Amino acid sequence: MSRFLSSRLSRLGTYVPGEQPQDRQYIKLNTNESPYPPAPLTEEKVREALWQLHLYPDPDCRALTKALAEYNAVLPEQILCANGSDDILSYIFLAFGDAKRGFSFPDITYGFYQVYGDFYSVPYRKIPLREDFSLAPEDYFALDSGIILANPNAQTGLALELKQIAAIAEKNPDQLVVVDEAYVDFGGESAAALLPEYDNILVVRTFSKSRSLAGGRLGYAIAGKELIVDLNTVKYSINPYNVNRMTQAAGIAALQADGYYVDCCKRIMSTRESTKKALQALGMEVTDSKANFLLAHHASIEGEALYRSLKERGILVRHFKDQRIRDWIRISIGTEKQMARLVAEIGAILE
Ligand SMILES: *Cc1c(COP(=O)(O)O)cnc(C)c1O
Repeated sequence: MSRFLSSRLSRLGTYVPGEQPQDRQYIKLNTNESPYPPAPLTEEKVREALWQLHLYPDPDCRALTKALAEYNAVLPEQILCANGSDDILSYIFLAFGDAKRGFSFPDITYGFYQVYGDFYSVPYRKIPLREDFSLAPEDYFALDSGIILANPNAQTGLALELKQIAAIAEKNPDQLVVVDEAYVDFGGESAAALLPEYDNILVVRTFSKSRSLAGGRLGYAIAGKELIVDLNTVKYSINPYNVNRMTQAAGIAALQADGYYVDCCKRIMSTRESTKKALQALGMEVTDSKANFLLAHHASIEGEALYRSLKERGILVRHFKDQRIRDWIRISIGTEKQMARLVAEIGAILE
């Protein structure tokens, strides 16, 4: 680090993204990307945008916002687009987190919540998941902080039912309840349906996982108009042009080609279930994931050792050092063929 770095920053940890090694070709099952490319329509739409790159993009993303409002059956004033859902989460900490009112979230969940809390000096409390990694809604009743829940949850894949989210919102009428739905299209239920009833719910979505656009960087918020106004206050104080022209075009194309992505999600869910059965047949414990990944472990091998052996064999999965899941590996769902390879390699390693 340079001698100019602020002393505050030099003490902070940053988010550690899944590795993207370039030393050889891996079967990449470590960052929950889609194994399927974007819909063919994307090329035509992005190509049109390419020849307008000398002009700034629409900071309000009006065409995309209108399409998203129709898609989600809400008003355009209830949508805000940003550079990936990480961007939206960052706005949420800036807009609604302060030194008094912080956020609560599970001890095992998406790592960025803690990173943003530290970075923006917003206090947070980690509420432990139950022994089986389930989240008990009662643990979130009547809190004195905002709440952030990934649903389905990151790392475990477990999903809450809509009525459980509703109960949490109901018991915390004066707290913001953020529902991060990065994985909702793989078997979860969207809390967007609760917005007419609860003005304290804010839904966060991304095109990265179920819409094959991780490289395009597109996320959005759905919430009541006032919450969107607040998020815009942050956006227009940092970088109004945060969604580039090609990504706005790719997002519109993704909505127009919805059927293609619904099919991809179905394939991914079916591959998830067959992979889960195959891993269980090898004696592994696997969580009941409603996401595009599985969290799995085997009593006879440590998580890190399994991760390393798979990497040596050309397959990348994710291992986390958190105490509670250090004996587990997280496996993104790839194609049927990739998963067959994975199961075969794990079988060989276990022998
Ligand atoms: C992947 C992920 C994100 C980040 O998504 P981007 O839109 O790519 O920034 C946010 N939350 C959760 C729970 C995720 O798994």
